[in-house]
Amino acid sequence: MNQSKALRALVCSVLLVSATSMIISGCTRTRAGINTENAESAVDKDSIATNPAKELPAAPAPESLKIANAKAILERRQIPILCYHQIRDWKATDSKTAKPYIVPVDAFKAQMKALADSGYTTILPDQLFSYLATGTEIPEKSVMLTFDDGDADQVTTGLPELNKYGFKAVYFIMTVSMGRSIYMTKEQIRALSDAGHVIGSHTWDHKNVKKFEDADWATQIEKPSKQLEEITGKPVKYFAYPFGLWKPEVIAPLKERGMVAAFQLSTARDENDPLHTIRRIIVPGTWSGEALIKNMKSSFK
Ligand SMILES: [Zn+2]
Repeated sequence: MNQSKALRALVCSVLLVSATSMIISGCTRTRAGINTENAESAVDKDSIATNPAKELPAAPAPESLKIANAKAILERRQIPILCYHQIRDWKATDSKTAKPYIVPVDAFKAQMKALADSGYTTILPDQLFSYLATGTEIPEKSVMLTFDDGDADQVTTGLPELNKYGFKAVYFIMTVSMGRSIYMTKEQIRALSDAGHVIGSHTWDHKNVKKFEDADWATQIEKPSKQLEEITGKPVKYFAYPFGLWKPEVIAPLKERGMVAAFQLSTARDENDPLHTIRRIIVPGTWSGEALIKNMKSSFK
């Protein structure tokens, strides 16, 4: 399968958290039907750079911290971490299984407004790491926003909403698609980093880490980190598992390659290494702001 064909079909298996129950669902993320005529949006550097951000408390470098044992980390209150993919209105061609990955613009606006109105502060991975690893205090109403894959609408449509409230986010980039079709350019990624957002790794082409062979560690982890570091001038320390899938055996090789923490979706955290199995929830476009807040509280305790 050639690259562009591979890109069109990202087969996902994810855990979605609903208001009342956890639903395990499989999903096929298909790019084939997406109209890309507006994809080459100009880089809106001004909207990135003029972000009226709230100052986050400075966090020490993760490498400098003495990390608590796993039991202590698992006992800490979990901070809600939200996972988004595309921010755009649904189209007739969007399949039912694709829709959980697409949050319509008004829904996203309502969700960000609800976070702000409810008094939430966005924290970044260094703050989260410091809190989990050592118990550093963070605001009572902390939330982390994460965006996977590197879709350009996360910047062109999503970012202005974050900027209204001074929110910062983490962008986990799949490097194979940078600059292509509906994805962010290197310039957009650089501008995000310059504006204080965090750029993390999401592999080269979204390969399931459970299926890694030896050569994949260079292709999927080492080279993408190097490329992102060249773009941003900052180290890549955080990783999001494609499809949220992981197994305990990949944690040590990820650590060896500089990943101080890694993010999955909604399965239980690893009892020996909760920092490399941090939970997130995918926020569907069907959630109102109120539903988002309710689900955050019930999913992260
Ligand atoms: Zn992904």
